[in-house]
Amino acid sequence: MGQLDGKVALVTGAARGIGRAIAEKLASEGADLALCDLQADWLTETAESVQKLGRKALCVAVDVSNWEAVQGAVGEVQKAFARVDILVNNAGITKDTFLARMSVEDWDAVLSVNLKGSFLFTKAVSRPMMKQKSGAIVNIASIIGLIGNAGQCNYAASKAGVIALTKSTAKELASRHIRANAVAPGFIHTKMTDALAEDVKAQMLAAIPLKRMGEPEDVANVVLFLASDASAYMTGQVITVSGGMVM
Ligand code: NAP
Repeated sequence: MGQLDGKVALVTGAARGIGRAIAEKLASEGADLALCDLQADWLTETAESVQKLGRKALCVAVDVSNWEAVQGAVGEVQKAFARVDILVNNAGITKDTFLARMSVEDWDAVLSVNLKGSFLFTKAVSRPMMKQKSGAIVNIASIIGLIGNAGQCNYAASKAGVIALTKSTAKELASRHIRANAVAPGFIHTKMTDALAEDVKAQMLAAIPLKRMGEPEDVANVVLFLASDASAYMTGQVITVSGGMVM
């Protein structure tokens, strides 16, 4: 018996990296998956792994920052599965540069995907979850949303916003038995961090007490906990998964 047997989970940014690991982890515990990313064909590999685990996978193309597209995506998921039990707001981007050089477009782009996207999906699933009188929302924030970072003011602000969104959602929806929690990963091995310069990676590693980068599965394990009844008495919390980089 899996911890999520009979549940339907929607994961954004599920084509690769942390989102893919989360989708596979939730499927391994019995959930059927609605996989969302910018293009449906990018989701083929994730869908194949979910199906190999014996679960259903629906691939949905959606830009998380577009309200009409998000409404359409949640409609498609309800049509296919007739419910949504778990939402994982994972899609995220970076456009790093120092504040004085940051274009207004790069500020807007990062806030639109990371923060507005999380709001839009939360808003769209809140109706079916309120009708069901149950649900678990897990938002992927970042330690940068807690401590800030030079060269990432847009990203830091978006992730701090995700944390505030999580706590407000938790307060607003608790009476309907809908929980909202966040995971704040540190330095995780994905395409997002592969793009960093070697000296930046070395500096980051030196600051991690557990002396290794995290793997997507390290984050997925905590998402599973927050999505499952194992965390039934937790809402509005932020769990840091950073090898001790932030304590
Ligand atoms: P990733 O490898 O870049 O994957 C993110 C996925 O989201 C990609 O498939 C991406 O598509 C998709 N995406 C981007 N914009 C989208 C949009 N508008 N609509 C739908 N999907 C979109 O990133 P990751 O490292 O796995 O990160 C996942 C989450 O963890 C993000 O929220 C990130 O901020 C957070 N996080 C990561 C780290 C880390 O060290 N990696 C640390 C802390 C927090 P494309 O292929 O087009 O980009």
